[in-house]
Amino acid sequence: MRSLTVFCGSNFGTHPRYSEDAKALGREIARRGIRLVYGGSAKGLMGVIADSALAEGGEVIGVITRLLHELGHMHPGLSTYEITEDMRSRKARMSELADGFIALPGGLGTFEELLEAMTLTQLGEHHKGVACLNTAQFFVPLQGLFAHGVQEGFIKAEHSQMLIVEDNPGALLDALGRWQAPVVNKWIEPAKR
Ligand code: AMP
Repeated sequence: MRSLTVFCGSNFGTHPRYSEDAKALGREIARRGIRLVYGGSAKGLMGVIADSALAEGGEVIGVITRLLHELGHMHPGLSTYEITEDMRSRKARMSELADGFIALPGGLGTFEELLEAMTLTQLGEHHKGVACLNTAQFFVPLQGLFAHGVQEGFIKAEHSQMLIVEDNPGALLDALGRWQAPVVNKWIEPAKR
């Protein structure tokens, strides 16, 4: 893996552990010589992970929309940045630049990005791994929702298990490096009625 896209909160969350883990992941990504691609903002955990990778001498690319750039959200110290016209083209570019994806705790933006990355893997549009850093068990409710989707016949178990869930940055990067896409198509045979 040479390049990873990270999705994470543009807020800090309620507990210092969220920032501590974002910092630890940024450091580990830079130490491994992996390029960090992210949304380009200086806000919340986004700013924390960028600062930490940069402080470790890592390469950090921000992909930000014109609107957010004009609103002054851009991190001032990035290695490079790209400006896109809208959120959709921004996500497509972040995906293009990455060999895999990591989500940290975050809000609606983070969930949306994480689920899109998984959906595209599920459909075979790309074969890139998706992981989440499970600080303070943040992603356990999402795993519960996936399990519910499996039980109710909307998600294949293989797809629900695609998400790598780790609470240690090093273990997470190791698991992402080993990951292989499941060879299974998306659709579930309907039960006989
Ligand atoms: P949220 O989880 O709702 O705070 O949104 C964070 C995610 O949405 C990040 O991974 C970004 O890719 C995107 N995002 C949200 N706010 C910004 C911002 N101010 N600048 C750039 N990207 C943002």
